[in-house]
Amino acid sequence: MSDPVSDSVTDAEHIDVLIIGAGISGINAAYHLSTQLPDRSFVVLDALESFGGTWLTHTFPGVRSDTELFTLGYEFKPWTGAPYASGAEIHAYLGEVIEENDLGGHFRYQHKITDARWSSEAQCWTVTGSRSDTGEPITMTAGFLWMCHGYFRHSKGHTPTWPGMEEYQGRWIHPQAWPAEPEIDGREVVVIGSGATAATLVPAIADQCSHVTILQRSPTYFFQSPNVDVLADQLRSLDVPDEWIHEIVRRKAIAEMQSLTQVAAVHPELTKAGLINMVSSQLPEDYEVDVHFTPRHLPAQQRVARILDGDLFRAISDGKVTMVTDEIETFTADGIVTKGGQQLHADVVVTATGFDLTVFGDIAFFVDGEPVDFTDSVTYRGIMFTGIPNMAWTFGALRLSWTMRAELVSQFICRLLGHMDELGAGSVTPGLRTQDVGMELLPYIDPAEFSPGYLQRSIALMPKSGSSTEWRLSLDYWDEREVLPIANLDDGCLAYIPRVG
Ligand SMILES: Cc1cc2nc3c(=O)[nH]c(=O)nc-3n(C[C@H](O)[C@H](O)[C@H](O)COP(=O)(O)OP(=O)(O)OC[C@H]3O[C@@H](n4cnc5c(N)ncnc54)[C@H](O)[C@@H]3O)c2cc1C
Repeated sequence: MSDPVSDSVTDAEHIDVLIIGAGISGINAAYHLSTQLPDRSFVVLDALESFGGTWLTHTFPGVRSDTELFTLGYEFKPWTGAPYASGAEIHAYLGEVIEENDLGGHFRYQHKITDARWSSEAQCWTVTGSRSDTGEPITMTAGFLWMCHGYFRHSKGHTPTWPGMEEYQGRWIHPQAWPAEPEIDGREVVVIGSGATAATLVPAIADQCSHVTILQRSPTYFFQSPNVDVLADQLRSLDVPDEWIHEIVRRKAIAEMQSLTQVAAVHPELTKAGLINMVSSQLPEDYEVDVHFTPRHLPAQQRVARILDGDLFRAISDGKVTMVTDEIETFTADGIVTKGGQQLHADVVVTATGFDLTVFGDIAFFVDGEPVDFTDSVTYRGIMFTGIPNMAWTFGALRLSWTMRAELVSQFICRLLGHMDELGAGSVTPGLRTQDVGMELLPYIDPAEFSPGYLQRSIALMPKSGSSTEWRLSLDYWDEREVLPIANLDDGCLAYIPRVG
């Protein structure tokens, strides 16, 4: 079978593996390809002007990680700073990875991809798009398409629609597009939302503004800690090499996460109480913790945001920041009226209301001329998709550091590409086995397990999961760490077709 559009393309540049996205996942994919399959040609394309993805797009004050860098960083490149890092520090670390591994020549920026067409006859993808800077069209062909586009749309953050928005005369800012001159000095600022973004942004701007109000519909869980790792510092003081420190502290972090995850699963109420007590202890005695810091969901269902050195709680205790837990009734010319009747004056409104999920980088996919509807597809191990040949997606860990799963996926894909070589296969396509047909199909991620707003809004656009291990995105890193490296690539779920030509 062929694709009429791609079959007419004869003189486009061809590469073996095309990686879409130059963030943590794309850089990791490039590193693993270059070290594990050095004979493979590959190119990394990104719509933005440089590498970094999340850590390039987000420049709002206070932007930083809320998982530590011993695991958000790569296994192969030691992290030598404080455990939690600013956006700029993470970006610099990623730049070092590219430079130290001589990967720069593979990266092309300002390349936005809009279409990907698979031809079974030619056994390749034809990928088209345009340069984000010049508008010049781009066409390339690739044997394998490795999607590292992350999960949210970089061009625009999520802003809900509220009554009266058009009445509001003040300034709107979305943290995803923080302006060079936000004009918040001495102003009253209302930040809508209370997730990790609001929690890192607010302490960073609180001293600058005349007052900051955090308006949240529902509370978030917070974990508070200093930005130090005692073990890492001890090992550094003993002149232990950075590589050893990284490995040791990484193992400790992974073990600690495993214990916390297990406790949260077995004793959700106890975990909830522990987290809320931690917050209470940081706030004045009569503070309404039950109203503002007692979430309705259980801790494991969404990421727990991290406060460093109690900065947010200090700003609240000092009276610089007020929490309001309520819903928006309407915007007015100079602020917000809540459903509970509170009037919040705002010179500036910051919508820390999250992201919009992008399903496969907003790229239109076609297989042999037919448009792909991903909602008809079932995921193979949360990496590939039924009916879509030679395509994989790096979807990282959700409750842990994204990179932990991204690295497992990179190793899996490199192993799969090597296996295709051994078989002389030109294509690999996941497909349900006889025993899988009719199995119960579930959302890509079970909302009972993990349900942040961006997933709740868009889960219906995602591929499905099945009920057996092969057909699910696993949220169990510790299980996957054992299973994926030895998963049978001839399990009957993957159909290989011999290479043509
Ligand atoms: C403020 C903030 C803090 C975070 N903190 C943490 C944390 O502490 N720990 C954690 O684990 N996770 C955190 N995350 C989640 C974070 O997104 C992931 O950790 C990780 O950075 C995702 O990397 P990625 O490479 O998969 O995707 P991204 O960083 O999203 O990069 C994807 C890249 O793909 C490009 N792209 C997409 N579509 C196309 C297309 N069609 N054509 C060309 N290019 C395209 C984009 O331009 C982008 O550069 C945070 C997210 C945010 C926003």
